[in-house]
Amino acid sequence: MKIPKHNLGAVRKSRKKKGSWRWEIKNRITSLEQLGKIVNLTEDESKAIAHTATENCSKKLKMAITPYFASLIDKTNPDCPIRRQCIPLYNEFRTNVNELQDPCGEEKDMVVPGLVHRYPDRVLLIVTDMCATYCRHCTRRRIVGASEEKISKSNFELAVKYIKENTRIRDVLISGGDPLLLSDAKLEHYIKTLRSIKSVELIRIGTRVPGTLPSRITHKLCRMLKKYHPLFLSIHFNHYKEITKETRQACEMLSDAGIPLGSQTVLLKGINDNAAVMTRLMHELLKIRVRPYYIYQCDLAPGTQHFRTSVSSGIKILQSLRGYTTGYAVPTYVIDAPGGGGKVPINPDYVISRSKKDIIIKNYEGKVFVYSENGKTSPQEVQATISKQ
Ligand SMILES: *Cc1c(COP(=O)(O)O)cnc(C)c1O
Repeated sequence: MKIPKHNLGAVRKSRKKKGSWRWEIKNRITSLEQLGKIVNLTEDESKAIAHTATENCSKKLKMAITPYFASLIDKTNPDCPIRRQCIPLYNEFRTNVNELQDPCGEEKDMVVPGLVHRYPDRVLLIVTDMCATYCRHCTRRRIVGASEEKISKSNFELAVKYIKENTRIRDVLISGGDPLLLSDAKLEHYIKTLRSIKSVELIRIGTRVPGTLPSRITHKLCRMLKKYHPLFLSIHFNHYKEITKETRQACEMLSDAGIPLGSQTVLLKGINDNAAVMTRLMHELLKIRVRPYYIYQCDLAPGTQHFRTSVSSGIKILQSLRGYTTGYAVPTYVIDAPGGGGKVPINPDYVISRSKKDIIIKNYEGKVFVYSENGKTSPQEVQATISKQ
């Protein structure tokens, strides 16, 4: 359409400014053609993207990458950790018998559409299925990216009613999709309504936006969020390359608004499944005041076999952190139990044996120690026990 000359100024003004978060969303990379202009795609990637875009492909998870996140992609290296997280491989269309549509069994704990009540005192509220960039390892791929809509007004009202009536719920985790893709006004409406419920003590938001769309973290957003403390943010980070100066600035703004920041990391083959990469990620997170919270064993979501590592490799990574670095840099390694059941911690074993008398433990270096519990074991007996190990 040709725009009359005298209207051009107004049209220009109304366009979202380049680099703003709305501009980023409007200009997300969603097609093979767009991506091919900025990345040297492999044959496998091209085939996967074409397949992801076909109408009749029921297993697809939409491809969308913010220009910002795309700028972090190594254009020539197919193993680039940023690239592997956002550009599909044909492996996504290969499914395994152990994989589940709803790997964490959320549907069966859904008490109201969008509201998952699994633990006694807290709930998960899914407010949108849209993300800035779609992670190829997405566990909620059964719903994510499908409509790019927010929760309906009536379902939100039902969720609020449920939370109000179940006064044991003291913690509401707002997630999605990515809740920070909602407008400030919409998000504030949700948070304000939840905050008005007397029994709700804590509000949390799960997001990947500080890493995939840092421009979303504006001073206006921070000013809004800080009115509803205590409010925590859990941020999805998988590789230290995601921590740029823009991300650092976004996290600093959130921290300065008094919001405690935690990270959630998925253990991903070829991306972060080694001790050096994981240690560096944890250190970079602490430097931007993000406290590592969870490392997840990759869920059994369909088409994610190529991302999964063994649990023993996860345990080894945890062993390489504990004792060797700051305790704050050591998150909890969990498996979200397949089919539902919640997060189960998987710890490296530091207990050699336990009796009524004492517990025999080893430290991070493998040195053996005895903690006597009955008050009768002499140092000589302790020494004898240790030498037997
Ligand atoms: C992860 C999760 C929570 C929150 O668990 P925390 O361990 O408290 O962070 C709550 N509900 C559901 C359904 C979850 O998956």
